[in-house]
Amino acid sequence: MYVIFFGPPGVGKGTQAAIVAERMGWAHISTGDMLRAHVKEGTELGRKAKSFMNQGLLVPDQLVIDMFMARLAEIGDRGFVLDGFPRTLVQAEALDAALAKSGRAIDTTINITAPDDVLVERMMGRAAEAGRADDTPEAMRTRLETQKPPADLLDHYRRQGKLKDVDGRPPVAEVTVEVMRALGVADASPQGSR
Ligand code: AMP
Repeated sequence: MYVIFFGPPGVGKGTQAAIVAERMGWAHISTGDMLRAHVKEGTELGRKAKSFMNQGLLVPDQLVIDMFMARLAEIGDRGFVLDGFPRTLVQAEALDAALAKSGRAIDTTINITAPDDVLVERMMGRAAEAGRADDTPEAMRTRLETQKPPADLLDHYRRQGKLKDVDGRPPVAEVTVEVMRALGVADASPQGSR
């Protein structure tokens, strides 16, 4: 299956995407992780992306699209979960066009939701643990304001009947059960069968 995870920063979409990819044997593509690796290695892309990321702003579409397409080509036609891409309608259209070239399409998108106060609390906790440069209080506020999935992006998939909302507030394992249910795939793991 070809699945996208949507959600505001801090909602746990990266955690859920990683769990689902692992259980299903699908590739997990996180553009945030890829960009952070570029910044760490000091590549040209990393140098261009860094200031946007540190301010909590989106990296320009074309930079992210080129990086993403290279990764998509590497995984062949294996199932995947996308985490943090597409973030704009322009990116979604580029994704659709790339998949269509090989007769493929996104099957389902999972939109994980939670109120802002829950998200800020979670991001503060993560900042303390991981020391992410974009988890300063100012960058967190900017990311929340600017990085909720835009309405036109969600509508693009909703119109196609491919958007499923999942409440991101319960504990991780409970959210995973709901995600697997929304995907319509059997969850044989011990957590899922409880
Ligand atoms: P994330 O780990 O998904 O929260 O991404 C961390 C940062 O990387 C974001 O705050 C953006 O600056 C940048 N980023 C990741 N994915 C994208 C994308 N698809 N489009 C634009 N910027 C992105």
